[in-house]
Amino acid sequence: MISHVLPTYNRADIAFERGEGSWAIATDGTRYLDLGAGIAVNALGHAHPELVAALTGQAGRIWHVSNIYQIPQQERLADLLVEHTFADTAFITNSGTEAAELAIKMVRKYWAEQGDPERYEILTFEGAFHGRSTGAIAAAGSEKMVKGFGPLMPGFRQLPWADMAALEAAISDRTAAVMLEPVQGEGGIRPLADEDLRLIRQLCDRTGALLVLDEVQSGMGRTGKLFAHEYAGIIPDIMMVAKGIGGGFPLGAVLATENAASAMVAGSHGSTYGGNPLACAVGTRVMEIVTEPAFLAEVNRKAGLLRQKLEGLVAAHPDVFELVRGQGLMLGLKCKVAPADLVRAGYAEHVLTVAAADNTLRLLPPLTITDEEIGEAVARLDRAAARLQG
Ligand SMILES: *Cc1c(COP(=O)(O)O)cnc(C)c1O
Repeated sequence: MISHVLPTYNRADIAFERGEGSWAIATDGTRYLDLGAGIAVNALGHAHPELVAALTGQAGRIWHVSNIYQIPQQERLADLLVEHTFADTAFITNSGTEAAELAIKMVRKYWAEQGDPERYEILTFEGAFHGRSTGAIAAAGSEKMVKGFGPLMPGFRQLPWADMAALEAAISDRTAAVMLEPVQGEGGIRPLADEDLRLIRQLCDRTGALLVLDEVQSGMGRTGKLFAHEYAGIIPDIMMVAKGIGGGFPLGAVLATENAASAMVAGSHGSTYGGNPLACAVGTRVMEIVTEPAFLAEVNRKAGLLRQKLEGLVAAHPDVFELVRGQGLMLGLKCKVAPADLVRAGYAEHVLTVAAADNTLRLLPPLTITDEEIGEAVARLDRAAARLQG
């Protein structure tokens, strides 16, 4: 008999009832060190007092109003997003998938309004993940996600990841946009080289194609910059944000330049819940904390410490691990064993990690993880690896 919860997940037999910073506490009282952070969502850890205060403070005032009214909390969040990024404007969503959908719509409408509605092809990359809607699965195109869900939405072409020759051959003045994650998350923590991202920007400039970056996982300080593309010194035309921006509350956003957003007018898009006061009160507090001058410096210092310890872990278990990759606190351990086995061994050592494609174990700890917790995390990963060495 089918479970009452639609069985679309392979769930571990653990339920959490409480969280404190980097720790998730199960119903049996076991304390797990959380290096998954709800897949890069709990950017400030669990139950951050300032986020709890932002949420409960807003909860006592007003939760929801329609977007047919002014929403000052939404304006405040949009102000912060515009102030700290390339963007001139932001649309607030509830999730990354919704952000991807709007980004795709924005590209199509842009070219339609330019009088070129046939210019709709968006180039994407193998290994990409942009969400689970019909549009987002068509964009990413991975076999696992699209099988059985056809016919797929047309207008996407997947290219081999990081293959600049393939991109140069495919892009033309008929290309509507190039859409990619600067660091692939689900694809296995695969960062694109800064020079490749700069080349993509140049190719977009040369052909007029819009550059759409999906920073749903890599954004909000995860890589040590507020957004990963800052390392390359380029700016996109459109960017999707979600996961860390709500610190655990469902929240996302599409950021855009005035030019890229120019076709979007009253009536061209909407959302009942998107930009509600509750979500925006929390997101505003997350943005305020992550953009404090010392915050990202600390993320980078701790990322250096974790990386160094992980290099040691790889050296200590050459049969289990191949290498460390990623940036900041968005790290992947490429494995020689099935990453799912390591995730399970981690449960036994009370440390939470997440598997990804390309045989990669993902480490996405809260950005607030302490030095002591980093030491403890690597000690637990070391014991988990030892379990698999046999
Ligand atoms: C998680 C993710 C999404 C989808 O976000 P949801 O909030 O699950 O809809 C899109 N793009 C990337 C890069 C992601 O990591």
